[in-house]
Amino acid sequence: MNHELRTTNCELIYARLSDAYGDERWHWMPDVVRGPIDVIVGAVLVQHTTWTNAERALECLRSAGALDTAVLATMPFDALAALVRVSGTPSIKARRLRALAAMIEDGGGLPWLLALPLATMRTTLIATHGVGPETADAIALYAAGHRTFIIDAYTKRFARRIGIGPLDDRYETWRRFFESALPGADAALFQRYHAWIVLHGKTLCRATPRCAPCPLLDACDYGRARVVAAQTRSACVAGGATR
Ligand code: SF4
Repeated sequence: MNHELRTTNCELIYARLSDAYGDERWHWMPDVVRGPIDVIVGAVLVQHTTWTNAERALECLRSAGALDTAVLATMPFDALAALVRVSGTPSIKARRLRALAAMIEDGGGLPWLLALPLATMRTTLIATHGVGPETADAIALYAAGHRTFIIDAYTKRFARRIGIGPLDDRYETWRRFFESALPGADAALFQRYHAWIVLHGKTLCRATPRCAPCPLLDACDYGRARVVAAQTRSACVAGGATR
């Protein structure tokens, strides 16, 4: 697949997703999120659970006055685990939140983290207990406004179905693919693009996709094959009923 075709596809996909989901609100978009600390803490809380559960834990922390890196780094472990219990695996998430908050406090606080250049921020975050590249990029993109593309399961699933993306499975290869396929895109576009991909993955391009109403159907061989197969099955059933 040549670069020109990949670029065209990624821009076409963005335009279609924007038309389909552009009016919807998404929790980390700048006009929705309360502030960087919500993104940073939420990025840990949402690991292996839904955003609804992560948001409940976020509100528990807020109500307790614990949505603050200085508080998170020093509060008793059991109390922190109790506050985030609703998001699942409370001990794991409490340990990760404490490590992340301590790293930020040791470095100089939230303004210090948010002022780091992208490469330094990613390296620093990924070196922290419990922070992988996806979580680091969520923080860099939505809390700090850096131009980095988040790769998650929704992104790979829809991209593979529609026929774009690198052959290998490495996170960095996928991130570089989207970033180089959209050379003129800024961080704000990447923020919207990721939000539309997640919304698309939850509504239509699910584990079992609903392809017939998909705005990308004409560009997706996988989806068209599914629709044709479903139509063929319906015709066979109808034919059998009239015999
Ligand atoms: S046509 Fe189906 S498989 Fe293709 S992107 Fe749309 S929902 Fe996903």
